[in-house]
Amino acid sequence: MKDRYFVIGNPVGHSKSPGIHAAFAAQSGIDLEYATCLAPLDGFAATVAALAAAGCKGANVTVPFKIEAFNLCSRLTARAQAAGAVNTLCFDGVDIAGDNTDGAGLVADIVGNAGVAIVGKRVLLVGAGGAARGVILPLLEQRPASLTLVNRTAATAHAVAAQFDGAVEVAEFADLAGPFDIVINATSASLAGEVPPIPPGVFGPATLALDMMYGSQPTAFMRFAAGHGAQVRDGLGMLVEQAAEAFHVWRGVRPATGSVLAALREAA
Ligand code: NDP
Repeated sequence: MKDRYFVIGNPVGHSKSPGIHAAFAAQSGIDLEYATCLAPLDGFAATVAALAAAGCKGANVTVPFKIEAFNLCSRLTARAQAAGAVNTLCFDGVDIAGDNTDGAGLVADIVGNAGVAIVGKRVLLVGAGGAARGVILPLLEQRPASLTLVNRTAATAHAVAAQFDGAVEVAEFADLAGPFDIVINATSASLAGEVPPIPPGVFGPATLALDMMYGSQPTAFMRFAAGHGAQVRDGLGMLVEQAAEAFHVWRGVRPATGSVLAALREAA
């Protein structure tokens, strides 16, 4: 029987992960199955237990289960611990091990695909939910000059920053003074076609403005940032890179991502 993997979410039917992992498997010569798994909103733990009992090797976890996945794991990597959220599960028949590949995926996309070094740069991270928490440690490991966190609910930003020993500055939207070199939108505002209340001065002509969200059209954040002179990028590259990192965690093989990302962009 082929090794089986799933992406668990609710909703999950729209997920591009099965196609991405099928492409990785094909280029690596690995015969595996990867499919979506719709878990009931109150049934994530039972779904994971059933998959593990059925002999599945691993799973990705997406909205809204990443924090529940974190609480379920018997072992966690350091980056999952720092994130407080898990997007990659490994089943070995005994343990459920949790990892978080979102941050590695974001860094690989910014540095590798966009060609923008993070070292020495002023970075602004907008949002303090699961996605934002997941990328802070990998961003800090790139040694930016500063990492500023801003969130609609300021108390959440302060609570998140407190876990990073003073390495993360917290700001209010109104106090942001720019331009920043890299602005990352890790809010879900784009899902509603909204833009967080970011002062236009955070953007300059050399700013890379990246929205973690992606779609067939530029997001509201991307249009806003481009309108104020920034270079813009969506979250599709991050999606492919976090998948590549998960594939590496499971199979020990690092797939090439360029052709997979190009094919997804062409199909969009
Ligand atoms: P969460 O629900 O955990 O967090 C949502 C965040 O967005 C919170 O900080 C929230 O602020 C903020 N927010 C929501 N609506 C607004 C608004 N209208 N204005 C300003 N801030 C707002 O979501 P996640 O962190 O899991 O996901 C965030 C985004 O990142 C999603 O769009 C998701 O699709 C994307 N993502 C993309 C990935 C990729 O591979 N490309 C990987 C992971 C996530 P508050 O605290 O005030 O509620």
